[in-house]
Amino acid sequence: MIELPEAVVIARQVTDVLRGRRIAAAVANYSPHKFAWFSGDPAGYDGLLAGKSIGGATGRGACVEIEAEDMLLVISAPLRYHAPGEKLPAKHQLLLRLADGSAVSSTIQMWGGLFCFRRGEQGAFADYSLALERPSPLSDGFDRAYFAGLFDAEAAQLSAKAFLATGQRIPGLGNGVLQDILWTARVHPKRKVAGLSAAEADSLFEAVRSVPRTMVEQGGRDTERDLFGQPGGYRTVLSRNTAGTPCPACGSLIRKEAYLGGSIYYCPRCQAV
Ligand SMILES: [Zn+2]
Repeated sequence: MIELPEAVVIARQVTDVLRGRRIAAAVANYSPHKFAWFSGDPAGYDGLLAGKSIGGATGRGACVEIEAEDMLLVISAPLRYHAPGEKLPAKHQLLLRLADGSAVSSTIQMWGGLFCFRRGEQGAFADYSLALERPSPLSDGFDRAYFAGLFDAEAAQLSAKAFLATGQRIPGLGNGVLQDILWTARVHPKRKVAGLSAAEADSLFEAVRSVPRTMVEQGGRDTERDLFGQPGGYRTVLSRNTAGTPCPACGSLIRKEAYLGGSIYYCPRCQAV
């Protein structure tokens, strides 16, 4: 699943490569998917987008927001570029055929939003709306005081994993990015927020600020792919790629467990419960 770092990386690639190209036709919901969400009738996307030129793109939480004149596309799913003549995927939930013969597709894996709406409207996609309202950990607005304000009565009851990755408390931060954040802060994903020391909460703040930034600088995580289908250059410390291998800090074997509707990875020595 793309998260905050990949959304920023893919948005930059869209801006660099696709800005100024005209959309010849749009096909939405070609391969119906139970967990693909659209705004309005996907059959209407062609009428909204055909003839429009692609402008800039911006990462908003885990979404890539793409401008197309008076329309916005908000995609929380992988996006893939296809050069003219390149084979297109057999299954897709969104395909933009561009006037120069190239194309962009999105094929949903677990779930994803493929929203298209007029600028100024919000597209009724909660994760996107919250990403517009709340500061990104990549922005200066996400400072120590803001982070401290997230530690409310509700948060105190949560585990560190739930605190970081549910309710879009931190836009775009999900179950993937949080693993390396918690490892960097030396906090176990099951630790209760109420039990964190001031020093641990501070380490968590530093890691929430620094880890996504490093991931962006290195082109996203190695577990995800960019607009051109290439894995990111950030080598995940804790992910499906590293479970069972030695922790780079202490040499203990990295563990994987199911927890709260997803896998957690942790170092049993660096991240004591
Ligand atoms: Zn370790």
